[in-house]
Amino acid sequence: MAKRAVKTFLPGATLGILGGGQLGRMIALEAKRMGYRCGVLDPAEHGPCAQVADFHVRAQVGDAAAARELARRCDAVTLEWELIPLGVLEAVARAAPLFPGASVLENLQDRLAQRRFLEKNGFPQTRFWAVAGREDLSAAVRQAGLPCVVKRRRHGYDGKGQFWLRVPRDLDGAAEVLEDACVLEAAVPFAREVSAIVVRGQTGELRAYPVAENLHRNGILHATFAPARVPAGTARRAVALASGIAKALGHVGVLAVELFELPGGRLLVNEIAPRVHNSGHFTWGACKTSQFEQHARAVLGLPLGDPAPLSPALMVNLLGELWSKGEPRWARLLAQAGVSLHLYGKDRPAPGRKMGHLLALAPSAKDPFALADRLLALL
Ligand code: AMP
Repeated sequence: MAKRAVKTFLPGATLGILGGGQLGRMIALEAKRMGYRCGVLDPAEHGPCAQVADFHVRAQVGDAAAARELARRCDAVTLEWELIPLGVLEAVARAAPLFPGASVLENLQDRLAQRRFLEKNGFPQTRFWAVAGREDLSAAVRQAGLPCVVKRRRHGYDGKGQFWLRVPRDLDGAAEVLEDACVLEAAVPFAREVSAIVVRGQTGELRAYPVAENLHRNGILHATFAPARVPAGTARRAVALASGIAKALGHVGVLAVELFELPGGRLLVNEIAPRVHNSGHFTWGACKTSQFEQHARAVLGLPLGDPAPLSPALMVNLLGELWSKGEPRWARLLAQAGVSLHLYGKDRPAPGRKMGHLLALAPSAKDPFALADRLLALL
Protein backbone atom coordinates (compact mmCIF):
# COMPACT_ATOMS: atom_id res chain seq x y z
CA MET A 1 0.00 0.00 0.00
CA ALA A 2 1.35 3.47 -0.84
CA LYS A 3 2.31 5.46 2.23
CA ARG A 4 -0.17 8.22 2.91
CA ALA A 5 1.25 11.68 3.57
CA VAL A 6 0.02 12.83 6.97
CA LYS A 7 -1.33 16.35 7.06
CA THR A 8 -1.20 17.66 10.62
CA PHE A 9 -3.64 20.32 11.79
CA LEU A 10 -2.46 22.14 14.89
CA PRO A 11 -4.62 23.84 17.56
CA GLY A 12 -6.51 26.76 16.08
CA ALA A 13 -7.63 24.59 13.14
CA THR A 14 -11.28 23.54 12.74
CA LEU A 15 -12.61 20.01 13.12
CA GLY A 16 -15.95 19.15 11.52
CA ILE A 17 -18.22 16.47 12.95
CA LEU A 18 -20.95 14.75 10.93
CA GLY A 19 -23.71 14.03 13.45
CA GLY A 20 -24.51 15.97 16.59
CA GLY A 21 -25.32 13.54 19.42
CA GLN A 22 -23.41 12.82 22.61
CA LEU A 23 -20.46 11.20 20.82
CA GLY A 24 -19.92 14.32 18.71
CA ARG A 25 -20.34 16.48 21.82
CA MET A 26 -17.61 14.62 23.70
CA ILE A 27 -15.24 14.72 20.69
CA ALA A 28 -15.91 18.47 20.41
CA LEU A 29 -15.39 19.10 24.14
CA GLU A 30 -12.02 17.34 24.08
CA ALA A 31 -10.95 18.98 20.80
CA LYS A 32 -11.92 22.41 22.14
CA ARG A 33 -9.94 21.78 25.32
CA MET A 34 -6.92 21.32 23.05
CA GLY A 35 -7.63 24.65 21.33
CA TYR A 36 -9.46 23.53 18.19
CA ARG A 37 -12.61 25.05 16.73
CA CYS A 38 -15.46 22.66 15.97
CA GLY A 39 -18.34 22.68 13.51
CA VAL A 40 -21.19 20.19 13.50
CA LEU A 41 -23.78 18.97 10.99
CA ASP A 42 -27.03 18.09 12.75
CA PRO A 43 -30.72 18.81 12.14
CA ALA A 44 -31.64 19.56 15.78
CA GLU A 45 -31.49 23.21 16.87
CA HIS A 46 -29.88 22.61 20.29
CA GLY A 47 -28.53 19.05 20.00
CA PRO A 48 -25.81 17.78 22.37
CA CYS A 49 -22.93 18.70 20.04
CA ALA A 50 -24.40 21.94 18.64
CA GLN A 51 -24.54 23.28 22.23
CA VAL A 52 -20.74 23.15 22.50
CA ALA A 53 -19.62 23.59 18.87
CA ASP A 54 -18.36 26.89 17.43
CA PHE A 55 -20.72 26.63 14.49
CA HIS A 56 -23.61 24.50 13.38
CA VAL A 57 -24.82 23.59 9.91
CA ARG A 58 -28.42 22.69 10.54
CA ALA A 59 -29.37 19.82 8.23
CA GLN A 60 -29.74 16.04 8.12
CA VAL A 61 -26.46 14.10 7.94
CA GLY A 62 -27.70 12.68 4.62
CA ASP A 63 -27.83 16.18 3.05
CA ALA A 64 -24.83 16.20 0.70
CA ALA A 65 -24.91 19.97 0.02
CA ALA A 66 -25.00 20.77 3.75
CA ALA A 67 -22.23 18.24 4.49
CA ARG A 68 -20.10 19.83 1.79
CA GLU A 69 -20.73 23.27 3.29
CA LEU A 70 -19.55 22.00 6.68
CA ALA A 71 -16.44 20.47 5.09
CA ARG A 72 -15.61 23.72 3.27
CA ARG A 73 -15.54 25.53 6.63
CA CYS A 74 -13.33 22.87 8.29
CA ASP A 75 -9.71 21.69 8.05
CA ALA A 76 -10.55 18.04 8.72
CA VAL A 77 -13.82 16.16 9.17
CA THR A 78 -14.92 13.09 11.11
CA LEU A 79 -18.20 11.44 12.06
CA GLU A 80 -19.95 10.18 15.14
CA TRP A 81 -22.45 7.99 13.31
CA GLU A 82 -21.52 5.35 10.71
CA LEU A 83 -24.76 5.26 8.74
CA ILE A 84 -24.09 8.32 6.60
CA PRO A 85 -24.74 7.70 2.87
CA LEU A 86 -21.50 6.91 1.01
CA GLY A 87 -22.22 9.62 -1.59
CA VAL A 88 -22.31 12.22 1.18
CA LEU A 89 -18.98 10.96 2.55
CA GLU A 90 -17.44 11.14 -0.93
CA ALA A 91 -18.70 14.73 -1.33
CA VAL A 92 -17.20 15.68 2.04
CA ALA A 93 -13.86 14.04 1.21
CA ARG A 94 -13.58 16.17 -1.95
CA ALA A 95 -13.72 19.29 0.24
CA ALA A 96 -11.60 18.28 3.28
CA PRO A 97 -9.70 15.28 4.67
CA LEU A 98 -12.30 12.87 6.13
CA PHE A 99 -11.55 10.06 8.59
CA PRO A 100 -12.91 7.43 8.51
CA GLY A 101 -13.81 7.64 4.83
CA ALA A 102 -16.30 5.91 2.54
CA SER A 103 -13.99 2.95 1.84
CA VAL A 104 -14.07 2.00 5.55
CA LEU A 105 -17.76 2.66 6.04
CA GLU A 106 -18.89 0.64 3.02
CA ASN A 107 -17.69 -2.51 4.80
CA LEU A 108 -19.64 -1.74 7.95
CA GLN A 109 -22.91 0.06 7.21
CA ASP A 110 -24.73 -3.10 6.29
CA ARG A 111 -24.62 -5.98 8.80
CA LEU A 112 -24.27 -8.50 5.98
CA ALA A 113 -21.35 -6.58 4.43
CA GLN A 114 -19.76 -6.43 7.88
CA ARG A 115 -20.18 -10.20 8.37
CA ARG A 116 -18.72 -10.85 4.89
CA PHE A 117 -15.78 -8.55 5.59
CA LEU A 118 -15.06 -10.52 8.79
CA GLU A 119 -15.44 -13.83 6.93
CA LYS A 120 -13.17 -12.75 4.07
CA ASN A 121 -10.46 -11.69 6.49
CA GLY A 122 -10.75 -14.77 8.70
CA PHE A 123 -11.98 -13.04 11.87
CA PRO A 124 -14.05 -15.32 14.15
CA GLN A 125 -17.76 -14.63 14.38
CA THR A 126 -21.10 -16.35 14.87
CA ARG A 127 -22.70 -18.29 11.99
CA PHE A 128 -24.95 -16.08 9.84
CA TRP A 129 -27.36 -16.25 6.90
CA ALA A 130 -28.69 -13.50 4.62
CA VAL A 131 -32.50 -13.53 4.71
CA ALA A 132 -34.99 -11.67 2.55
CA GLY A 133 -38.46 -12.82 3.46
CA ARG A 134 -40.23 -15.59 5.33
CA GLU A 135 -39.09 -18.52 3.15
CA ASP A 136 -35.43 -17.61 3.52
CA LEU A 137 -35.95 -17.22 7.23
CA SER A 138 -37.50 -20.68 7.65
CA ALA A 139 -34.66 -22.27 5.67
CA ALA A 140 -32.00 -20.39 7.66
CA VAL A 141 -33.62 -21.23 11.01
CA ARG A 142 -33.58 -24.93 10.04
CA GLN A 143 -29.78 -24.62 9.71
CA ALA A 144 -29.12 -22.28 12.65
CA GLY A 145 -31.42 -24.01 15.10
CA LEU A 146 -33.26 -22.21 17.90
CA PRO A 147 -32.66 -19.85 19.59
CA CYS A 148 -31.37 -17.42 16.99
CA VAL A 149 -31.78 -13.73 16.26
CA VAL A 150 -32.87 -11.96 13.11
CA LYS A 151 -31.47 -8.45 12.61
CA ARG A 152 -32.17 -5.74 10.04
CA ARG A 153 -29.14 -5.30 7.81
CA ARG A 154 -29.34 -1.53 8.06
CA HIS A 155 -30.22 1.04 10.71
CA GLY A 156 -30.44 -1.26 13.71
CA TYR A 157 -28.74 -0.14 16.93
CA ASP A 158 -29.23 -0.59 20.70
CA GLY A 159 -31.15 -3.81 20.06
CA LYS A 160 -33.57 -2.02 17.66
CA GLY A 161 -34.53 -3.85 14.47
CA GLN A 162 -33.80 -7.23 16.07
CA PHE A 163 -36.11 -10.11 16.81
CA TRP A 164 -35.30 -13.20 18.84
CA LEU A 165 -36.64 -16.60 17.75
CA ARG A 166 -36.81 -19.07 20.65
CA VAL A 167 -39.64 -21.43 19.67
CA PRO A 168 -40.99 -22.27 16.16
CA ARG A 169 -44.10 -20.07 16.46
CA ASP A 170 -41.85 -17.02 16.99
CA LEU A 171 -41.26 -17.07 13.22
CA ASP A 172 -44.72 -15.54 12.83
CA GLY A 173 -43.69 -12.54 14.90
CA ALA A 174 -40.72 -11.75 12.65
CA ALA A 175 -42.88 -10.25 9.87
CA GLU A 176 -42.13 -6.65 10.85
CA VAL A 177 -38.31 -6.93 10.84
CA LEU A 178 -38.54 -8.97 7.63
CA GLU A 179 -40.00 -5.97 5.80
CA ASP A 180 -36.32 -5.07 5.33
CA ALA A 181 -33.42 -7.29 4.27
CA CYS A 182 -32.04 -9.08 7.33
CA VAL A 183 -29.27 -11.30 8.65
CA LEU A 184 -30.03 -14.32 10.81
CA GLU A 185 -27.44 -15.10 13.47
CA ALA A 186 -27.08 -18.22 15.58
CA ALA A 187 -27.36 -17.37 19.29
CA VAL A 188 -23.98 -17.23 20.98
CA PRO A 189 -24.03 -18.79 24.48
CA PHE A 190 -21.50 -16.26 25.72
CA ALA A 191 -20.01 -16.16 29.21
CA ARG A 192 -19.23 -12.46 28.95
CA GLU A 193 -19.43 -9.54 26.53
CA VAL A 194 -16.27 -7.49 26.16
CA SER A 195 -15.12 -4.70 23.92
CA ALA A 196 -11.70 -3.92 22.57
CA ILE A 197 -11.17 -0.27 21.72
CA VAL A 198 -8.18 0.72 19.65
CA VAL A 199 -7.11 3.85 17.83
CA ARG A 200 -5.24 3.85 14.55
CA GLY A 201 -3.37 6.91 13.33
CA GLN A 202 -2.80 8.01 9.74
CA THR A 203 0.66 6.39 9.74
CA GLY A 204 -0.85 3.05 10.79
CA GLU A 205 0.34 3.48 14.39
CA LEU A 206 -1.97 1.62 16.83
CA ARG A 207 -2.80 2.07 20.53
CA ALA A 208 -5.19 -0.04 22.61
CA TYR A 209 -7.27 0.68 25.70
CA PRO A 210 -7.75 -1.89 28.46
CA VAL A 211 -10.35 -4.42 27.31
CA ALA A 212 -13.71 -3.61 28.89
CA GLU A 213 -16.53 -5.81 30.09
CA ASN A 214 -20.09 -4.90 29.13
CA LEU A 215 -23.47 -5.65 30.62
CA HIS A 216 -26.46 -5.12 28.34
CA ARG A 217 -30.10 -4.84 29.40
CA ASN A 218 -32.88 -5.05 26.80
CA GLY A 219 -30.27 -4.86 24.03
CA ILE A 220 -28.91 -1.53 25.37
CA LEU A 221 -25.55 -1.12 27.08
CA HIS A 222 -26.24 -0.80 30.81
CA ALA A 223 -22.74 -0.66 32.31
CA THR A 224 -19.07 -1.17 31.42
CA PHE A 225 -16.31 -2.28 33.79
CA ALA A 226 -12.65 -1.94 32.86
CA PRO A 227 -10.36 -3.76 32.89
CA ALA A 228 -12.49 -6.78 32.00
CA ARG A 229 -12.21 -9.72 34.39
CA VAL A 230 -10.69 -12.00 31.74
CA PRO A 231 -7.35 -13.83 31.66
CA ALA A 232 -4.46 -11.75 30.27
CA GLY A 233 -4.27 -14.03 27.21
CA THR A 234 -7.94 -13.38 26.39
CA ALA A 235 -7.42 -9.62 26.69
CA ARG A 236 -4.40 -9.86 24.38
CA ARG A 237 -6.42 -11.82 21.79
CA ALA A 238 -9.24 -9.25 21.98
CA VAL A 239 -6.80 -6.40 21.31
CA ALA A 240 -5.14 -8.38 18.50
CA LEU A 241 -8.55 -8.92 16.87
CA ALA A 242 -9.51 -5.24 17.07
CA SER A 243 -6.07 -4.15 15.82
CA GLY A 244 -6.27 -6.62 12.93
CA ILE A 245 -9.73 -5.35 12.00
CA ALA A 246 -8.62 -1.68 12.11
CA LYS A 247 -5.68 -2.54 9.87
CA ALA A 248 -7.71 -4.64 7.42
CA LEU A 249 -10.23 -1.81 7.09
CA GLY A 250 -7.52 0.84 6.65
CA HIS A 251 -9.32 2.69 9.43
CA VAL A 252 -8.13 5.97 10.93
CA GLY A 253 -9.54 6.98 14.31
CA VAL A 254 -11.02 5.07 17.22
CA LEU A 255 -12.52 1.67 16.46
CA ALA A 256 -14.56 -0.43 18.88
CA VAL A 257 -15.07 -4.16 18.49
CA GLU A 258 -17.76 -5.80 20.58
CA LEU A 259 -16.91 -9.41 21.29
CA PHE A 260 -18.56 -12.43 22.84
CA GLU A 261 -16.33 -14.50 25.14
CA LEU A 262 -17.40 -18.14 25.07
CA PRO A 263 -17.16 -20.27 28.25
CA GLY A 264 -13.89 -21.82 27.00
CA GLY A 265 -12.33 -18.38 26.36
CA ARG A 266 -12.82 -18.24 22.57
CA LEU A 267 -13.78 -14.82 21.21
CA LEU A 268 -16.34 -14.10 18.48
CA VAL A 269 -16.85 -10.68 16.92
CA ASN A 270 -20.37 -9.35 17.45
CA GLU A 271 -20.13 -5.87 15.99
CA ILE A 272 -17.63 -3.28 14.75
CA ALA A 273 -18.07 0.48 15.27
CA PRO A 274 -15.63 2.72 13.36
CA ARG A 275 -15.90 5.55 15.88
CA VAL A 276 -15.84 6.40 19.54
CA HIS A 277 -18.12 4.01 21.41
CA ASN A 278 -20.35 3.94 24.47
CA SER A 279 -18.27 1.12 25.99
CA GLY A 280 -15.24 3.45 25.79
CA HIS A 281 -16.77 6.30 27.78
CA PHE A 282 -14.82 5.12 30.84
CA THR A 283 -11.62 6.26 29.12
CA TRP A 284 -12.62 9.88 29.82
CA GLY A 285 -11.60 10.08 33.44
CA ALA A 286 -10.05 6.63 33.86
CA CYS A 287 -7.29 6.67 31.20
CA LYS A 288 -4.45 9.07 30.45
CA THR A 289 -6.03 10.04 27.11
CA SER A 290 -9.76 9.70 26.47
CA GLN A 291 -11.11 7.94 23.38
CA PHE A 292 -12.51 11.32 22.30
CA GLU A 293 -9.14 13.07 22.42
CA GLN A 294 -7.51 10.05 20.71
CA HIS A 295 -10.03 10.15 17.90
CA ALA A 296 -9.47 13.88 17.38
CA ARG A 297 -5.69 13.33 17.43
CA ALA A 298 -5.90 10.61 14.77
CA VAL A 299 -8.17 12.65 12.49
CA LEU A 300 -6.06 15.80 12.90
CA GLY A 301 -2.81 13.95 12.15
CA LEU A 302 -1.34 14.44 15.65
CA PRO A 303 0.74 11.89 17.59
CA LEU A 304 -1.56 9.48 19.43
CA GLY A 305 -1.92 9.81 23.20
CA ASP A 306 -1.20 7.30 25.95
CA PRO A 307 -4.26 5.07 26.51
CA ALA A 308 -2.90 3.63 29.80
CA PRO A 309 -5.45 3.28 32.60
CA LEU A 310 -5.24 5.53 35.65
CA SER A 311 -7.68 3.39 37.61
CA PRO A 312 -10.18 0.58 37.21
CA ALA A 313 -13.56 2.13 36.37
CA LEU A 314 -17.27 1.50 36.13
CA MET A 315 -19.37 3.43 33.61
CA VAL A 316 -23.15 3.35 33.97
CA ASN A 317 -25.52 4.69 31.32
CA LEU A 318 -28.26 7.07 32.49
CA LEU A 319 -31.35 6.33 30.40
CA GLY A 320 -34.47 8.47 30.06
CA GLU A 321 -36.56 6.33 32.41
CA LEU A 322 -34.51 7.71 35.31
CA TRP A 323 -36.43 10.96 34.83
CA SER A 324 -39.85 9.28 35.18
CA LYS A 325 -40.37 10.81 38.65
CA GLY A 326 -38.74 14.14 37.88
CA GLU A 327 -35.13 15.28 37.92
CA PRO A 328 -32.81 12.62 39.39
CA ARG A 329 -31.26 13.46 42.78
CA TRP A 330 -27.81 14.34 41.46
CA ALA A 331 -26.46 15.66 44.78
CA ARG A 332 -26.82 12.20 46.33
CA LEU A 333 -24.78 10.69 43.51
CA LEU A 334 -22.14 13.40 43.54
CA ALA A 335 -21.64 12.95 47.28
CA GLN A 336 -20.05 9.56 46.48
CA ALA A 337 -16.26 9.62 46.42
CA GLY A 338 -14.76 8.99 43.00
CA VAL A 339 -18.02 9.41 41.08
CA SER A 340 -18.38 11.89 38.24
CA LEU A 341 -21.38 12.83 36.15
CA HIS A 342 -21.63 13.37 32.39
CA LEU A 343 -24.93 14.72 31.02
CA TYR A 344 -25.40 15.25 27.31
CA GLY A 345 -27.73 18.27 27.37
CA LYS A 346 -30.75 16.43 25.93
CA ASP A 347 -34.01 18.09 26.90
CA ARG A 348 -36.56 15.30 26.39
CA PRO A 349 -35.91 12.19 28.49
CA ALA A 350 -37.55 9.19 26.78
CA PRO A 351 -37.35 5.52 27.81
CA GLY A 352 -34.16 3.96 26.43
CA ARG A 353 -32.74 7.36 25.43
CA LYS A 354 -29.13 7.81 26.52
CA MET A 355 -29.19 11.05 28.55
CA GLY A 356 -25.79 10.77 30.20
CA HIS A 357 -23.51 8.44 32.08
CA LEU A 358 -21.71 8.25 35.38
CA LEU A 359 -18.18 7.14 36.03
CA ALA A 360 -17.08 5.52 39.29
CA LEU A 361 -13.31 5.23 39.73
CA ALA A 362 -11.72 2.29 41.52
CA PRO A 363 -14.86 0.22 42.13
CA SER A 364 -14.34 -3.20 43.68
CA ALA A 365 -13.67 -5.73 40.93
CA LYS A 366 -15.59 -8.37 42.87
CA ASP A 367 -19.05 -7.26 41.82
CA PRO A 368 -18.78 -4.00 39.88
CA PHE A 369 -22.20 -4.33 38.27
CA ALA A 370 -23.90 -4.49 41.69
CA LEU A 371 -22.36 -1.06 42.35
CA ALA A 372 -24.08 0.17 39.17
CA ASP A 373 -27.45 -0.68 40.67
CA ARG A 374 -26.55 0.85 44.04
CA LEU A 375 -25.53 4.12 42.39
CA LEU A 376 -28.65 4.24 40.24
CA ALA A 377 -30.80 3.60 43.34
CA LEU A 378 -29.45 6.85 44.84
CA LEU A 379 -31.05 8.77 42.00
P1 AMP B 1 -26.21 -5.83 18.72
O1 AMP B 1 -27.02 -4.57 18.52
O2 AMP B 1 -26.15 -6.67 17.53
O3 AMP B 1 -24.86 -5.53 19.32
O4 AMP B 1 -27.00 -6.65 19.85
C1 AMP B 1 -27.29 -6.11 21.13
C2 AMP B 1 -27.09 -7.17 22.21
O5 AMP B 1 -27.94 -8.30 21.96
C3 AMP B 1 -25.67 -7.77 22.26
O6 AMP B 1 -24.79 -6.95 22.97
C4 AMP B 1 -25.96 -9.10 22.96
O7 AMP B 1 -26.18 -8.91 24.33
C5 AMP B 1 -27.28 -9.51 22.31
N1 AMP B 1 -27.00 -10.30 21.07
C6 AMP B 1 -26.97 -9.84 19.81
N2 AMP B 1 -26.69 -10.82 18.91
C7 AMP B 1 -26.52 -11.95 19.63
C8 AMP B 1 -26.19 -13.30 19.29
N3 AMP B 1 -25.99 -13.70 18.01
N4 AMP B 1 -26.11 -14.19 20.33
C9 AMP B 1 -26.30 -13.82 21.60
N5 AMP B 1 -26.62 -12.55 21.98
C10 AMP B 1 -26.73 -11.62 21.03
